[in-house]
Amino acid sequence: MGIQPRAGILDIRPYKPGSSEAPGVENPVKLSSNENALGCSPKAAAAFEAASTRLHLYPDGGATKLREAIAREEGVDADNIVCGCGSDELLQLLGRAYLNPGDKVVQSQYGFLVYRLVAMQCGAELVCAPERNYTTDVDAVIGAAGDDARIVFIANPNNPTGTYIPDAEIRRLRDALPDTTLLVIDAAYAEFVSNADYNAGMDLARERDDVVVTRTFSKIHGLAGARLGWAYGDKSIIDVLHRVRGPFNVNLPAIEAGAAAIADRSFMKKSADHNAEWVAWLRQQIGGLGLEVTPSVCNFVLIHFPDTPGKRAADADAFLTSKGLIVRGVEPYGLPNALRATVGKADDNRRLAEALGEFVNA
Ligand SMILES: *Cc1c(COP(=O)(O)O)cnc(C)c1O
Repeated sequence: MGIQPRAGILDIRPYKPGSSEAPGVENPVKLSSNENALGCSPKAAAAFEAASTRLHLYPDGGATKLREAIAREEGVDADNIVCGCGSDELLQLLGRAYLNPGDKVVQSQYGFLVYRLVAMQCGAELVCAPERNYTTDVDAVIGAAGDDARIVFIANPNNPTGTYIPDAEIRRLRDALPDTTLLVIDAAYAEFVSNADYNAGMDLARERDDVVVTRTFSKIHGLAGARLGWAYGDKSIIDVLHRVRGPFNVNLPAIEAGAAAIADRSFMKKSADHNAEWVAWLRQQIGGLGLEVTPSVCNFVLIHFPDTPGKRAADADAFLTSKGLIVRGVEPYGLPNALRATVGKADDNRRLAEALGEFVNA
């Protein structure tokens, strides 16, 4: 072939979304993509539908209505926000804008896979900092970053581990990094976390010009299909992201749905309450079967399996699929013997615990 992409592109293993198939099983339950068990706000759905009369029109390229709705709810300035086609897009744009080939990018050992994709797309060098107890180790990140990392990506809390580090630790990390290193805090699950020592990083991003926070409508707002995310940071960073984004990167129905969703506090609370109840229940039930479950503040649990023939994660995955329960293998994260399961509706969670019990005791 004469036509070749840029060096490194063909080394990228394309992102594999959570499966939604369980061959031969009717009405399988999808617990593989951390979607909201309760769907989305009815107000968001109504706003999306109402937008159907305007599909022939270009959206507002600045997504002003959405940025203002976010700003109102978060108590921040709309000029410090840029919206994107999922927070994935914003992570890609950060790479496009700030990474030169050969630059160093740092993430935590089990950090979200998209950071690796961003680094590879840009020809950057990815360095992973070892974790402790499946949790970001700030000292290891500082060591890996040294004095020349261009971007440090931290998912707080992290997917697929479900763990978080306190605000004080994030601040300690920021203080230790050189001011030529951009700290990206991916707070996709922030709204699920009620721990007093947690902060999504919004205050830090307001105080400093070398921190950017990414947020998403895919998780607590239940709008994964609408593809909507946003970034918050100093105007110098937001201005850069505006320059590299597509002119209409957020579509019109998504702007309407997002603006309605972020104002629906009662749906958010319902989702957070449902999650808190069931994530604790899953951990207790599955832990009670003798499987290790990493403590999670997110809407999923990471389940570890014994290294015993017939009892490993891949065996459990096949068994659960045969029962119509689709969870997520996390081998690409370097966790070949674990599975990630999203918190589902009450009955789905009961089915999952029951099926795992059958598997363990078979
Ligand atoms: C789900 C998730 C996102 C959100 O992705 P979207 O593109 O907004 O759907 C970002 N970061 C992490 C860690 C996630 O798990």
